[in-house]
Amino acid sequence: TAKDAGRGRHAMFEEPLDARLLERSSLLADLRQAVARKELVLFYQPRICVADGSIVSAEALIRWRHPTRGLLGPSVFIPLAEESELIEVIGQWVIQAACAQLARWRREAVPLKRLSVNVSPRQLQSGRLMDDVEEALVRHGVPWNMLELEVTESLLVGDARSASEQLGRLRERGVLIALDDFGTGYSSMATLRTLPIDVMKVDRAFVQDLSEDPSALAVTRAILTLAQALGKHTVAEGIETQAQADTLRQLGCDEFQGFLFSQAVPAAEFAALCRFSAQQPLSASA
Ligand code: C2E
Ligand code: MG
Ligand code: MG
Ligand code: MG
Repeated sequence: TAKDAGRGRHAMFEEPLDARLLERSSLLADLRQAVARKELVLFYQPRICVADGSIVSAEALIRWRHPTRGLLGPSVFIPLAEESELIEVIGQWVIQAACAQLARWRREAVPLKRLSVNVSPRQLQSGRLMDDVEEALVRHGVPWNMLELEVTESLLVGDARSASEQLGRLRERGVLIALDDFGTGYSSMATLRTLPIDVMKVDRAFVQDLSEDPSALAVTRAILTLAQALGKHTVAEGIETQAQADTLRQLGCDEFQGFLFSQAVPAAEFAALCRFSAQQPLSASA
């Protein structure tokens, strides 16, 4: 009954709540050490050009090699980091690490046009993003247009004007700006029109329901039509099936990203994938 279920739920929540708090604080304490201890690592997920099936770029996705818990994904620790200034340290590390890797791949002639990294709203609020990016690119001798920054609509919650200005300045130097998880956030059509972006990423939430849910198809079509009308490059993320890829291709999507092609993999594995795809297009083309 509802009452039993309610009681059960209560009992289930009470103890684990303390456990969760403990867990959180111990995780946070570990996370404070993680950068210095070099436990953070970037994995890379290919982004595939729909037109020719080659890997044009990759998204850098952070992982944490925790000494006792094993390999942790960002959903476990990025939200935690975002509650404090820790995200700025981590964000800075990500930009440095991505640029260092880009430089290595350039030396090794890995065929790759650019690399995208995720930027959290707090990195824009700190006002240091431009300096961090410039420092990393210059130090590693990487051209500005090889870096793409993925931001979400949540950056508009704070000082939207300042965030927008900073992105605009980065873009003037050649950095590409992508709006991540598009369609799940707050942006109004009005802000979208003025936001300095080059790329729109259709969120996985729409992509995964494409084949079963007509409304997901309608929204995806509308997003792609809007993006195309605004002259933006389009990427669909979370593609897991050939049917989803086929539909997105028909809708005129420019780039694919998803487990159908590859998960995020360590740098060495990604380089091999990249070389392979230059010979043999990954896109299971229609
Ligand atoms: P995101 O930026 O939207 O990244 C895409 C996420 O979807 C990644 O999860 C990726 O592994 C996953 N994904 C890609 N294709 C598929 C698919 O076909 N099926 C499924 N089920 N999932 C797919 P991940 O790596 O766990 O990252 C989750 C989120 O964590 C990212 O979402 C991003 O918001 C955040 N994140 C990751 N790395 C960083 C970082 O360096 N800095 C910051 N601030 N956030 C990061
Ligand atoms: Mg992203
Ligand atoms: Mg996304
Ligand atoms: Mg996301």
